[in-house]
Amino acid sequence: MIVQKFGGTSVADPEAIRRLIEIARAARARDGRGPVLVVSAMSGVTDALLTVAARAGAAHVDDAILRLGPLRERHLAAISALAGNAKGNEVAAYTNAQFDELEAIARALGVLREVSPRTLDAVASIGELLSSRLIAIALEEAGVPAAWIDARRAIVTDDDHTRAAPLMRETTTVLRALVTPLVEEGRVPVLGGFIGATRDGITTTLGRGGSDYSGAIVGAGIDAREIQIWTDVDGMLTADPRIVSNPRLVPQLSFAEASGLAYFGAEVLHPSTILPAVERSIPVRILNSRRPDGSGTLIMAQRSENGTPVTALACKRDLTVVDITSSRMFMAYGFLRRLFEVFERFRTAVDVVTTSEVSVSVTVDDRRHLDAITEALSEFADVSVEAEMALLCAVGDRLRADASVAARVLRVLEEVPLRMVSQAAARRNITVVLRQSDLATAMKRLHEEFFE
Ligand code: ADP
Ligand code: ASP
Ligand code: MG
Repeated sequence: MIVQKFGGTSVADPEAIRRLIEIARAARARDGRGPVLVVSAMSGVTDALLTVAARAGAAHVDDAILRLGPLRERHLAAISALAGNAKGNEVAAYTNAQFDELEAIARALGVLREVSPRTLDAVASIGELLSSRLIAIALEEAGVPAAWIDARRAIVTDDDHTRAAPLMRETTTVLRALVTPLVEEGRVPVLGGFIGATRDGITTTLGRGGSDYSGAIVGAGIDAREIQIWTDVDGMLTADPRIVSNPRLVPQLSFAEASGLAYFGAEVLHPSTILPAVERSIPVRILNSRRPDGSGTLIMAQRSENGTPVTALACKRDLTVVDITSSRMFMAYGFLRRLFEVFERFRTAVDVVTTSEVSVSVTVDDRRHLDAITEALSEFADVSVEAEMALLCAVGDRLRADASVAARVLRVLEEVPLRMVSQAAARRNITVVLRQSDLATAMKRLHEEFFE
């Protein structure tokens, strides 16, 4: 059994969905059953829904409702292009009901003037509910027996809204009861990615880009042979293609490399995706839905050795560097504990940490609690904050075997002011933090040095 996850651009319109159907049909012909499909919302829909919630919460209800119009039309048009019969009507009615409910939510938010994370999840989840239902019917219409599953019944999560974590044991039990029998009956189960629900049935989401994670959770739950991530690029590339114009395809990655690249910003894979796959050693393959014959990138426990010490580069924008300096008690016992306790208290993750004799610098991505964090840190240290920073990272399992890499990285970045430099014990990555305005130049130089 394999799981195929299709991202937003791979389900963007009827044409993309027809390509999806052919990809699923081919997998079915090869395996004699399945596949299990996990799909994103149509591209742009999650952003649009979150904007609707924000506008409504800011009392711009008319604007919010106006924005729902084209979204409704886009879904209805796709339904009539792909399933113009009685079953299509049923899905159209479902779609209309969801949009009617969204309008009601928008009105309520306009009155309350407050958008809670729980409400954001209720709104954002609709994108995947609609796309998955539509794709299930489109498959049926194309002669592939399918079955829609409301992912909120299948993925059980905690209640950390907008970034919920799956409860794997419960989820696995449900997936085996719900998904596996459908495959055995000869059907193609279709679930929306990104969404789940708490034990009490309250809708949650797994964080932006979370459909990859859903794909892996489903794959692990049903013990899939392979998890495929179908997207709009040929696989993991040696650098972000929006910055470097000629990145190469990375044919193979180890789990550790993939997780490093995803964690440090290679958006093609959600950072948590690898976890469920690692636990069961399920290979993950990244593939291009516009070029289904490509070999893509294969991610597995161990990759075959090849020559390059750096496997790929990744970057992350919009970071904030927090410098914490103490003249009084630095390196005193307990200082670091106290410092990190502050970040823990505000549930804010730090990405990179460096220390010098009297100070610690950390980068944070999530700025929501930055003011409170600064205030709390100021009780025992001097704190300064610098926004618009970026992180650039060279990742590779073979980095540790080649002592010259760090020197090469620093040499090619000679003229770029580096704010932090970090390499930790695993020595799978070398990370620098720099001004966002220097990121593109720095990434191009590193790419030239290691890949061109
Ligand atoms: P999907 O909607 O299929 O989940 P995403 O937009 O989330 O797709 O991820 C794919 C995008 O990730 C690509 O279009 C590309 O711009 C971006 N990306 C960033 N870094 C990399 C990289 N190293 N390799 C491939 N793609 C990358
Ligand atoms: N639709 C969600 C998002 O845009 C999840 C995903 O596509 O992975 O973040
Ligand atoms: Mg994605």
